[in-house]
Amino acid sequence: MTIHARRSVGARWAAAAATIIALMTLSIGAQSGVQSANSVQPAINAAFDKYKDLKEGKNADYIPALAHVDANLFGIAVVGADGKAFTAGDVQTEVSIQSISKVFTMARVIQDQGPEAIEKTIGVDATGMKFNSIVAVELAYKVGGGPEMNPLVNPGAITATSMVQGQTGEDVWRKILNTYSDFAGRPLTVLQDIYKSESDSNQRNQAIGMLMHAYGYIKQNPGQATDLYTRQCSIGVNAKDLATMAATLAFGGRNPITGKQAINADNVPYVLAVMATAGLYDDSGKWLYHTGLPAKSGVGGGIIAVVPGKFGIAVVSPPLDEAGNSVRAQRAITDITMALGLNPYASKPFRQPAAVTK
Ligand code: GLN
Repeated sequence: MTIHARRSVGARWAAAAATIIALMTLSIGAQSGVQSANSVQPAINAAFDKYKDLKEGKNADYIPALAHVDANLFGIAVVGADGKAFTAGDVQTEVSIQSISKVFTMARVIQDQGPEAIEKTIGVDATGMKFNSIVAVELAYKVGGGPEMNPLVNPGAITATSMVQGQTGEDVWRKILNTYSDFAGRPLTVLQDIYKSESDSNQRNQAIGMLMHAYGYIKQNPGQATDLYTRQCSIGVNAKDLATMAATLAFGGRNPITGKQAINADNVPYVLAVMATAGLYDDSGKWLYHTGLPAKSGVGGGIIAVVPGKFGIAVVSPPLDEAGNSVRAQRAITDITMALGLNPYASKPFRQPAAVTK
């Protein structure tokens, strides 16, 4: 009886000690995992300094005007919960948003028609092929087992643009531009020289639009869909705009600077899932392997990455690698992700306090 009583007191002590140790472990974990604002600026500065003289990669030139964009342009921006922006380099000069636009047209369609509309009409699977692959369309059509595509490759993206509703082409366009502007927190405009250059050289996308119409993915007016898609890709954005757009996705669809709800919070996970699957073309797996972050690149040189509940990150630097992704943007975002411990797949083993096992 006495021994039993003593054990029981001991057990209570052990439980109390375990609780204290667990709380201490949690607080240490919180300190190393959750970043204070103080560590963000140094992480950005370090990435900027490390890569500012890196000359790898080459501007896209299949759209002639992109070849003339300043290859030295390099800007990094991170926007956090309170809308505070941390920046390094040139975050003012605009580049064309290009394929990053596909994220926000997809978001518009999901918001208006629900996540099933995208899943059933276009699909949400990686094609494993180039972003403007026609073979991917043929294969998806031939297997007949459902559309194995997604709204972040050109056939799916042009289809998504065709799904935005409006009485006229101009109504549809206004809806697209307003959606992007809500995400960015300022009125965006088209870079006319890029739009003209891409319109003069986008025969392949016109063919893709026609093919998607022929196979019934695009219901009507494929020419208009391709033209509006080309316009949306020519919208001008700087690194700060892109980081704000990413931050709006990081914080439940509400722009953390303006407070405007761009899309419902419930719809955000669908958008991020497709970004994680197909955001960096056929290098999406490699990207996710190294960062764990949903992201999207464009041939204008921008990449956005989303850290749900924490940050929107964006880098602009025009020279691209073979897969069509900005070299310095990939490196800088990867470094920042590592420095701040932002990979959502990373965790620390739970250390069972010794007192509990005894
Ligand atoms: N507007 C470009 C195109 O359709 C966008 C491509 C991209 O950024 N990958 O070719």
